[in-house]
Amino acid sequence: MNEDYTDFGYSGDGTAEDLVRWGLDNFHPRIALACSFQTTVLVDMVMKVRKDARIIAVDTGRLPEETYECARDIERRYATQIEWYHPQAAPLEDLTRTKGQFSFRESVENRRECCFIRKIEPLNRALTTVDAWFSGIRREQSAHRSGSGKIERDSGHGGIVKINPIADWTWDQVLEYVKKHKLPYNRLLDKGYASIGCACCTRPVEEGAPARTGRWWWEDEEHKECGIHVRNWNI
Ligand code: SF4
Repeated sequence: MNEDYTDFGYSGDGTAEDLVRWGLDNFHPRIALACSFQTTVLVDMVMKVRKDARIIAVDTGRLPEETYECARDIERRYATQIEWYHPQAAPLEDLTRTKGQFSFRESVENRRECCFIRKIEPLNRALTTVDAWFSGIRREQSAHRSGSGKIERDSGHGGIVKINPIADWTWDQVLEYVKKHKLPYNRLLDKGYASIGCACCTRPVEEGAPARTGRWWWEDEEHKECGIHVRNWNI
């Protein structure tokens, strides 16, 4: 794929560390890492450039304990504080009062509605505070992500810059980095989980299976994005 990002003013070597440094040098404090607490590769990279780099996260209210523990481990190791964003009370109360706690299992539309209220809207709010953001998505994670550039214009969030420093990394590279630097990580990875979201919508996958098969396993592959990384996706 075309890895020329000179339109963004980037002319570095395209390595993850270089992209992280470029992003922070050009956008801090109007840049943040959106972290979902699976591994902490990008947390480690941004913290090595700036100890005051911003980490934002969405607490959907249904995250696994292991995810909160990973967040706590990050805060302790790097002496930082995560900027948590939460769903707004009124739409969430309306959803659970009218449709119950498991409406997302009933249809793709209901699942997208839940993801919008619990994940997308809080992240949208978080991203109004930045001009650029780092995401840990990787091309091998799914067909949806296979065309991701390392620097993109995020049309879903007002055209801000989206930087995907490890877009071309394999899962083995991620694990190697975690081991080499003895990083905190989500302990669900030790139990066969490969892509971790809300507890009720995530399960372990067979060894070698695509990571995203453990998310919303009752849906077809084509629907398996929450909307955060999908361009032109209307809920
Ligand atoms: S992953 Fe499941 S519980 Fe979490 S926001 Fe989406 S549908 Fe709701």
